[in-house]
Amino acid sequence: MNSIKDLQPKEIWQNFYKLTQVPRPSNHEEKARKFMLEWAEENHIEAKIDETGNIIMTKPATPGMENRKGVILQGHLDMVPQKNEDTVHDFENDPIETYIDGEWVKAKGTTLGADNGIGVAACMAILTSTDIPHGPLEVLITSTEETGMDGANGLKAGMLKGEILLNLDSETEGELYVGCAGGIDSTIQFKYKEENVPADSKAYRIGVKGLKGGHSGMDINLGRGNSNKLLFRFLKTYTKDLGLRMASISGGTLRNAIPRESFAVVILPAANTARLEAALKEAEAIYKAELGAKEPNLQLIAENTGMPAFVIDTCTQFRLINSILACPNGAVRMIDSMPDTVETSNNLAIVQSENGKIFIKTLLRSSVETAKEALAQSIQAVFELADADEISFDGAYPGWKPNPDSAILHEMQHVYEKLYGKKPAIMAIHAGLECGLLGSKYPNWDMISFGPTLCSPHSPDERANIPSVAKFWEYLKATLKDIPRK
Ligand SMILES: [Zn+2]
Repeated sequence: MNSIKDLQPKEIWQNFYKLTQVPRPSNHEEKARKFMLEWAEENHIEAKIDETGNIIMTKPATPGMENRKGVILQGHLDMVPQKNEDTVHDFENDPIETYIDGEWVKAKGTTLGADNGIGVAACMAILTSTDIPHGPLEVLITSTEETGMDGANGLKAGMLKGEILLNLDSETEGELYVGCAGGIDSTIQFKYKEENVPADSKAYRIGVKGLKGGHSGMDINLGRGNSNKLLFRFLKTYTKDLGLRMASISGGTLRNAIPRESFAVVILPAANTARLEAALKEAEAIYKAELGAKEPNLQLIAENTGMPAFVIDTCTQFRLINSILACPNGAVRMIDSMPDTVETSNNLAIVQSENGKIFIKTLLRSSVETAKEALAQSIQAVFELADADEISFDGAYPGWKPNPDSAILHEMQHVYEKLYGKKPAIMAIHAGLECGLLGSKYPNWDMISFGPTLCSPHSPDERANIPSVAKFWEYLKATLKDIPRK
C-alpha cells in the first residue's frame, strides 16, 4: 500500500487526499474555496460563502433524526506553509506529496496540512454519507485560522442555526477540549529626558540571560524566570547603593514569548565598580537558589561598554523600576474546575527604550472575560500610579470558559467510555482557539473540540497517526448518532 487513498477509513483518507491536491496556504485559500464549492455542487450539497470567506454547507437530518439538536461541524480551510530548506515547493501552486511511514502519514519536506485537513475531510465524509444517522447538520469551514483566525473573527451572528458546535481541530485523540483563553495586548509608554552623564562615571552593559523562555500562554505556569522581572529586581535592589543610572534598556523580543534575556546600559561612579561585580554575584546566587531547578543556566552578566551620550532622567528611572516590579506577571489564577490549567495570566514581555521613549508590552490571557478585564485594570492602575505617559489596550479576542455542565461534554464522555472502556481527558488550553471567537458570536452554542492525533503541526515534521484517525471517525459517527433531542 503506498497511497493514502487506500487507507481506512476510506471516506476520510480519500477526501483528505483531494484536499492535499489543492493549494491552501493561509491567506491564499481561493483555490481551496473554489474546490469546496465545486465539490458541494457535484454532490448536491447546499453551500454558501460569507463575507469573510467562510464556507457554510447544510444537510438535512437523516430519517428519524429530525428531532435532534442541530449540530455544526467545524474545521478551518487553510494550512501552515512550512518546508525544509532543501525542499522545492510552491505552496500556492503545488500539491502536497504524502507518504505512509508505518502508523503515520507524512509529507515530503513540507507541512502535511492534516491540521486541519483531516477535520475538513471528516466534514466532507459526513456530508456525502448515506448510512450515518445524524440530526440537522451544518458544516462551517473557516478561513485563515492559522494567521489570525480571520474567518472565526468575521463570522456574523445569525448565519447558523445549530446549537452544538463540534470543532474538529484538536491534535490528540482521547482528549476533549472544553475551554481556551482569550487575550489582550497592553502597551505602556514612558517619555524620558536625556540628562548628562555625571563626571567620573564608568559604563557597563548588565543583563540577565540563559533563561528558557517559552510560549507565553502554554508555558506561563512552568515556574520559569522572566528576564525583565529579574533585571528590574536587580536594579531595584542595588540602584541606590551603587548610584546606578540607566542609559538604555532592552528586554524581551516577542509579546507571546516569555522573555529570556534582558540588558541595560548603566553608568555608576568609578569608585563603585568593584561593588557592582559583587552585587551581580550576590543577586545571581539568590535568583539561582530560587529558580535553579527550572532555570539552571540563569546568569547575570556585566561587561564594559562605551560611555553613553546621556542617561535617563532620575524621575523616569524611578517610576520605571518601581512599576515594572509592581506589574502583575505570570499565572494569576487557575481554572476552578481544572486546577492544572491556568485561567488568567500576564506575560511582561518587552521593555525597550528608543528615541526618548520606553515601551512596555505585555500579553494578558484569560478564559474568563471579566477576569481578563480585571487584570487589565490592575496593570492600568500600576502604570497610572507611575504616571506613565500612555497606557493602551488592543488586539482583544475572547476566551471560552469551560462549562462543567455542558450537555455535549457529558454525551461525548459517555460515548467515549462506551466505545473504548475508558474516560477521555477533559482539557482546556491557555491560548486562543477559534471556539473563543465563535462562542462570542453565538453565546448559546454548546461547544467541544476534538480530533485525531497529529504530531508537530505547523512544521515539516507534521504527521497524522493512522489508527487515531480511524478512532476519531468512529467517535464522530457515534457522537452524531447520540445527539440529544431538541
Ligand atoms: Zn488547526
